Amino acid sequence: MRDPRYDILFEPMAIGPVTAKNRFYQVPHCNGGGYRDPSAAAEMRGVKAEGGWGVIFTEQCEMHHTSEITPFIELRLWEDKDIPMLRKMSERMKTHGGLAGIQLAYSGINGPNLYSKEVPLAPSAMPIRTFTNDPVQARALDKSDIKDLRRWFVNAAKRSKDAGFDLICLYGAHGFGIFQHFLSRATNQRSDEYGGSLENRARFVNEVIGDIKDAVGDTMGITLRVSLDETIGDLGFSNAEVRDFIEMNKDLPDLWDLAHGTWEDCSGPSRFKEEGAQEQLVRGIHELTNKPIVGVGRFTSPDVMAKMVKTGTLDFIGCARPSIADPFLPKKVEEGRIEDIRECIGCNMCITGDMTMSISRCTQNPTFMEEWRKGWHPEKMNTKGDSNNVLVVGSGPAGLEAAWALCRRGYDVAVAEAKTEIGGRVVREAKLPGLSAWGRVVDYRQYQLSQRANVDIYLESELDTDSILEFGFENVCIATGAKWRADGVARQHVVPMPIASGAKIYTPDDLMDGTIPEGKVIVFDDDHYYMGGVLAELLAKNGADVTLVTPSAYVSDWTNNTLEQIAIHPRLVDAGVEIVLNRGITEIHADHVVSNCVYTDRTQRFECDAVVMVASRKEENALFDGLKAREAEWADAGIKSVKIIGDANAPGPIAWATYAGHRYARELDGDDIGDALPFRREITELALD
Ligand code: ADP
Ligand code: SF4
Repeated sequence: MRDPRYDILFEPMAIGPVTAKNRFYQVPHCNGGGYRDPSAAAEMRGVKAEGGWGVIFTEQCEMHHTSEITPFIELRLWEDKDIPMLRKMSERMKTHGGLAGIQLAYSGINGPNLYSKEVPLAPSAMPIRTFTNDPVQARALDKSDIKDLRRWFVNAAKRSKDAGFDLICLYGAHGFGIFQHFLSRATNQRSDEYGGSLENRARFVNEVIGDIKDAVGDTMGITLRVSLDETIGDLGFSNAEVRDFIEMNKDLPDLWDLAHGTWEDCSGPSRFKEEGAQEQLVRGIHELTNKPIVGVGRFTSPDVMAKMVKTGTLDFIGCARPSIADPFLPKKVEEGRIEDIRECIGCNMCITGDMTMSISRCTQNPTFMEEWRKGWHPEKMNTKGDSNNVLVVGSGPAGLEAAWALCRRGYDVAVAEAKTEIGGRVVREAKLPGLSAWGRVVDYRQYQLSQRANVDIYLESELDTDSILEFGFENVCIATGAKWRADGVARQHVVPMPIASGAKIYTPDDLMDGTIPEGKVIVFDDDHYYMGGVLAELLAKNGADVTLVTPSAYVSDWTNNTLEQIAIHPRLVDAGVEIVLNRGITEIHADHVVSNCVYTDRTQRFECDAVVMVASRKEENALFDGLKAREAEWADAGIKSVKIIGDANAPGPIAWATYAGHRYARELDGDDIGDALPFRREITELALD
């Protein structure tokens, strides 16, 4: 059972008037569902309760309509009408003895109020600071506004109690919550008793916590989430000031929830941040306060977690992403099943659900946010259907997840892989700069499959149509992946672009196979996710003189959604890569390319020895097409179904592939649902008048 080294993680701990059953603390995290998908979000939290988390929080909950962050979809607690939806969530959180927490957010200088059309209110008048540079400014709160705001917090706290929560987290971190806006000299330039000295800047949070404690503090624990450093130098709420603030207000909240810095710091991707990256910033704070502390750091290792508690650095282990990748992490530690933990890879795909206002996905856990929509449970599969066996062709993330989910359903599974190792694109990409943690996608599945008697993996087994028909598996799952195109077809060019003979073109596959061009190299990025930037870094590290050309206004544009873009650009600059934005490439010659401005079409010549083409990928679907063409022979061969999944079907990020593999496994032998919607959803209730 449990390793005694981890006993400390299971000690109960009080947070004000309530007690958490253990030290596993799911800090608030977004999920892209929020108020639009309340039951999906509630069920997701409920699964975490089942997985053993001692504390489970909502995402940020907008506590008053005068401050909201449309277009981003979070929760809302604007009136009593919102209570039932939140009660459903708190009830699910408490099913296994966990504490239910709600994070109350008043976004102040961060909320443009695009939906409510209210004039934003903030400590000082200035432009709204969000991702979208909205042309909106906030008005400074006057004394009567501050009184109103204090009352609104009390109203929200009472509603939170009504909704069944045990804990309230007041949001003052990541630049997003009004408590930070008051505490920081950057956003609080007031000259009254709420501005100036730290004592004055801390007045508002003291007042609100006092008010809330008076109203609900006898039964609810009140936590305060602040960032360990605003990361804008001395003008901001620096680590030194955070320490002064905590020392001056030792007993203010029932627990200090210490986030890292900006959201980009706090949710730092593995490409740029190690596990426990905030340790320096949090060390020693414990001695300044009598109250418990929770901190984050993409913790996936129970040894690191236990060390954090044993050394007195933290009292609770805060997890957002690790709890998404494996909602059963605490339970697995408790049951001594450390090797079964599905570790977060730090890709930040989950965050894109929030940033794109869609619904979140997790690369490692394809059931995330599908717990209610599709009835998918991260640890339990549906029972086996009528057929008995499956041949999975290809062992990339799609094939491996399909095999892992299928064998849990009870099918006999054979995986055929052409190469000498399993893992497909993942093992190749994990060797690129900064992406080694991505290898966990394969490591986890490889180990799990090795523990199962009903799975066989055949390496160096490139299958063709004849061999598949000869084998006679009942079900064939084609997961043969995709290859990068060399002809430039992507977004700028929808047909192959003009490439002169003698031009040296390399694809990402060539580089991952070890053929790395030297000299003056142009990386043309019309893919816009991580690959172009990563390869530019690889080439520069290898000594090439690299220019990255992209039609986008940002290098690795889509990584704005994974919070990485802000770190990628400086990393490339530091590596000596020249970045050319807003330009495409119209012609490639042996010693130069012709580049066009995306706005004016004016051209410019760039000398080069080689071009790395990061355009799009072509699905490897010949095997599937070959089998389809011979459908008449399937019955004689004993084949009932042939399906194509993952990149072979339509190339996408790794999370798309694990999702496709999982879905294939769930739906095998399932009922034909015809034209019905393949997931549940909620729609807005119509008003009676
Ligand atoms: P996905 O992301 O969809 O899982 P990948 O490209 O990562 O796709 O993986 C596809 C895997 O399929 C690769 O490891 C490749 O070697 C393997 N593969 C491709 N064609 C065949 C084939 N005909 N027989 C066996 N394995 C194949
Ligand atoms: Fe971790 Fe990536 Fe899953 Fe997010 S999507 S929880 S970063 S593995």
